[in-house]
Amino acid sequence: MTGDGNWTWLLPGRVPTLIDAGVGEPRHLDALEEALGGVPLAQVLVTHAHPDHASGAAAIAKRIPAARFLKMPWPERDQRWDVPWVPVADEETIEAGDTSVTAVHTPGHAPDHLCFWHGATAAIFGGDLAITGTTVWIPATQHGDLAAYLASLERVLALHPARIFPSHGPVIDDPASLLRGYIAHRLRRESQVIDALRRGNTRTDAIVTSIYPSLDERFVTRAQETVRAHLLKLERDGRVRRRADAWHIIGS
Ligand SMILES: [Zn+2]
Repeated sequence: MTGDGNWTWLLPGRVPTLIDAGVGEPRHLDALEEALGGVPLAQVLVTHAHPDHASGAAAIAKRIPAARFLKMPWPERDQRWDVPWVPVADEETIEAGDTSVTAVHTPGHAPDHLCFWHGATAAIFGGDLAITGTTVWIPATQHGDLAAYLASLERVLALHPARIFPSHGPVIDDPASLLRGYIAHRLRRESQVIDALRRGNTRTDAIVTSIYPSLDERFVTRAQETVRAHLLKLERDGRVRRRADAWHIIGS
């Protein structure tokens, strides 16, 4: 699910800063030390606790003992990565490189998800908020939250970013069209879920089959999570209700 792998971003300068820890791959650590040219890394800002972003923290700490590790807390997940985490709050400004970035809490994909905004260049380090060529995974049973994700997309759109440096895939040079496309896509999917409910499909499995009739078996779990994320959002919007495993449109 990480496509061709994942990016970490280095901001050299007075406060050498790495955005995201990667997975502790020795080649990554070698490349990092080479890019730093003997200057010790000061800190790692982690966008969220998923393994491809945070699991490398311990390996970095081993090579660069003075480095600090900062992220928004998600205690049950953070404890998996054996470093002392420094908590970051929404809208906190953090010195990084020769400049500073501001933490923007953007939950949805993960509850602790942060983007890091660099106002001077209108650039944002996007973590897993957006990935060119695909939609972003909202794992409903693992604290993913579709309503929160849509609000996060709106929040980042309101910053008018000129560029997103993502954790996966190419740099995003036209953030507005990608993010608006995501919102439109989710709304289309939502109306498909409502249509499926109207046609009498009340269980997640049946809704999945109705929306994705010829889905490859490998993607079924993921489709179920997506449909569940939509149902939970609709429930919170007061448009559907749940009885045992069955979902119903309110008022029909
Ligand atoms: Zn992730």
